[in-house]
Amino acid sequence: MGKQTSDARSAEKRAIKHCSHWIGGKPWDGEAERHGDIYDPATGQVTGQVDFAAPAEVDLAVSAAADAFREWSRVSLAKRATVLFAFRELVRTHADELASLITSEHGKVAADAAGEVARGLEVVEFACGIPHLLKGGYSENVSTNVDSYSIRQPVGVVAGITPFNFPAMVPMWMFPLAIACGNTFVLKPSEKDPSASLLLASLWAEAGLPDGVFNVVHGDKVAVDAVARHPGIAAVSFVGSTPIARYVYETGTSHGKRVQALGGAKNHMVVLPDADLDLAADMAVSAGFGSAGERCMAISAVVAVDPIGDDLVGRIRERISGLRVGPGTDERAEMGPLVTGPHRDRVASYLDSGVREGATLAVDGRAHPVIGGAAEGFWLGPSVLDHVTPSMSCYTDEIFGPVLSVLRAPSYSSAVDLVNSNPYGNGVAIFTCDGGAARRFVSEVQAGMVGVNVPIPVPMAYYSFGGWKASLFGDTHVHGTEGIHFYTRGKVVTSRWLDPSHGGINLGFPVNA
Ligand code: NAD
Repeated sequence: MGKQTSDARSAEKRAIKHCSHWIGGKPWDGEAERHGDIYDPATGQVTGQVDFAAPAEVDLAVSAAADAFREWSRVSLAKRATVLFAFRELVRTHADELASLITSEHGKVAADAAGEVARGLEVVEFACGIPHLLKGGYSENVSTNVDSYSIRQPVGVVAGITPFNFPAMVPMWMFPLAIACGNTFVLKPSEKDPSASLLLASLWAEAGLPDGVFNVVHGDKVAVDAVARHPGIAAVSFVGSTPIARYVYETGTSHGKRVQALGGAKNHMVVLPDADLDLAADMAVSAGFGSAGERCMAISAVVAVDPIGDDLVGRIRERISGLRVGPGTDERAEMGPLVTGPHRDRVASYLDSGVREGATLAVDGRAHPVIGGAAEGFWLGPSVLDHVTPSMSCYTDEIFGPVLSVLRAPSYSSAVDLVNSNPYGNGVAIFTCDGGAARRFVSEVQAGMVGVNVPIPVPMAYYSFGGWKASLFGDTHVHGTEGIHFYTRGKVVTSRWLDPSHGGINLGFPVNA
């Protein structure tokens, strides 16, 4: 009887995929005590199970990373760059596979998933330049026979804790640079879409990264707590919602770690009366409903400066009626389902609460047709709440779904005051044909990333990504030069050599052995 039960259990296990940790260069072969379900959001069906790490598994990953650090931190920059170039090539050749894993667990449409992989790759490409990025300064003869120079060294084992909405790109904001700088890495991806991280781990191994330099532990709060408190981890990069970002920042720093924790957002798009309204409407729809609004840089609040509100809402409504919502695997679909059933229900609840609190439901996404989707999928079409005011919960809360709120402002100054009074400060955009107004906006607005006639101003890999206020806890943004600083510690050397010396004769061409 016992055997039958365990046979039945293994058969059941074989029928759905199983994601486990990646520790020390290979899949973990233990038995997890706790698991989570993985869903296909387009069908609403459970398609797999993911192991949840207990503190003991986090310990294993940290000790594999600590062992690997001793060697990896001493590997030459040339060799590190070689591994990064190989990894870049492998991610490129597996981009379709990676994108389809993302679509199957997150729900976003194939083109969007491919875009996420491409943006992640840009950080890998930036990290390939690590020999240049780690160059220090040198000053000769700061005093007689005394020279000074600066170097940057890796911090040790670093961890990344990432959200569901970019299961490949957000981890790739972190680990390519951390590893290029000579650190070793433990990733705790979102338990909702864990598969992309495992494919990336196997590509690292194929690229020749030594075992233990990159590890993955899956799980929930238990794993996050173990990471944030672990004495063997020197630094933590976190991306997710504001309450958890604050919690991880406070827990990590109180345990002696360097922490950068990127939180939630309420991204405004200010539309001035002189703006090209067709462009503004196109951009509001693209930035509001792309990836079903589940982007940290999605536009969630349009601020229409009088008198263009009605005209703008009319143009947005027209465009929404033509949007094709359906499974991410269907080439016709422009917007997929939401990530889980409870999240879909929470997002939809803001349509009712918005109306209760006095907003107008200009577009009700619950009535939007779904092409080729299963009834059980986590669907919610694009919605617009108009005449939203700052006290309504649809404005004060981060909805993180396909609901665009439209607020009206009597003037440019009141629009800027509104944006600056919001607790978040991730991204913001202004639409105008007036260069002077745009320039003033860039200077006055309190947000980390600003777009001028660009609705989603995500910085390129060689700039740094991050917000202000409740959108960031810590001092440094991710990737770009701030990323290099976060993953290294500076050292300044002052040296005196009284006697010139040389290493003897060597006629060989100087090469990196
Ligand atoms: P989330 O905060 O729920 O989860 C993020 C990570 O924290 C996950 O790995 C999760 O397992 C872990 N976590 C969840 N609850 C926890 C708890 N109680 N204690 C400890 N750890 C916990 O975020 P999400 O729903 O996965 O992602 C969406 C959020 O991420 C949105 O708020 C979005 O704005 C934000 N986000 C921000 C950025 C940015 O750059 N600022 C980028 C992407 C997403």
